[in-house]
Amino acid sequence: MKAEEKQVLYSFFKTASDYFSGYKSYEKIPEFTDDTEVISFTEESCQDKNGSGLFSVKPVSEECTANETFLISEELNRIAEAVSLCTGCGLCSFRKNVVPGEGPYNFSNFQNIIDVMVIGEGPGADEDVQGRPFVGKAGQLLDKMLSAIDLFRDRNCFIANIVKCRPPNNRDPLPEESNACRKFLEAQITAIKPKAILAVGRVALQNLLDTKEGITKLHGKFLEYKGIPFMATYHPSALLRDVNLKRPAWEDLKLFRSKLEELIR
Ligand code: SF4
Repeated sequence: MKAEEKQVLYSFFKTASDYFSGYKSYEKIPEFTDDTEVISFTEESCQDKNGSGLFSVKPVSEECTANETFLISEELNRIAEAVSLCTGCGLCSFRKNVVPGEGPYNFSNFQNIIDVMVIGEGPGADEDVQGRPFVGKAGQLLDKMLSAIDLFRDRNCFIANIVKCRPPNNRDPLPEESNACRKFLEAQITAIKPKAILAVGRVALQNLLDTKEGITKLHGKFLEYKGIPFMATYHPSALLRDVNLKRPAWEDLKLFRSKLEELIR
């Protein structure tokens, strides 16, 4: 078997595995080499029973033009792979794991599966250990906030951060760190094309909108990020510190939901 064929098979089975587990894993893609004795692998013999040719040896980008979600997933994998190798700023020397982001994979709904990107500031200690965004206490609260407006990371939203490596002691990312990492977030936004962006917390708001205005002033307001409807609300860590912020955050989320319903109607 040729290396290219092995790559296609690997991508297919990895995608199936992500689907069944409910989460995307961003493990490093193995390097494949050609077998010494090349076995014939014709397109005809590799077609599934509906003739859709899932096992075709064509390059992924050519093969899957009708399968938008598959291509998004492949692109997100490529971005995650690049993040895992990145030494673009000083944060690489502190990380245990990179945290590229996390979203759904669902074979049953190919088109426009990710409605929303939720963007926070950067990984904390739990996220650094697990290589997944928003998995600590604040992350559990974020999941509850999102589920209250029918958003789920394993179904219809993608969660990412401004920086993909943990800033030491959970400090704010420095401008040079945010700038160095921005290309990955931009690539994710371009691949996903979300219908709306929800920024959580001051750092995400200020970085994305390039503003010095605080979250107190701008939360709950519909703005735009490069033509994409955008709203910021409080970071779940802030809600854990100050319960009085729960009510305004809830009002923000209700507004966000009703806007999203307009957008996906
Ligand atoms: Fe690279 Fe971003 Fe990590 Fe810096 S924070 S090392 S730019 S992935």
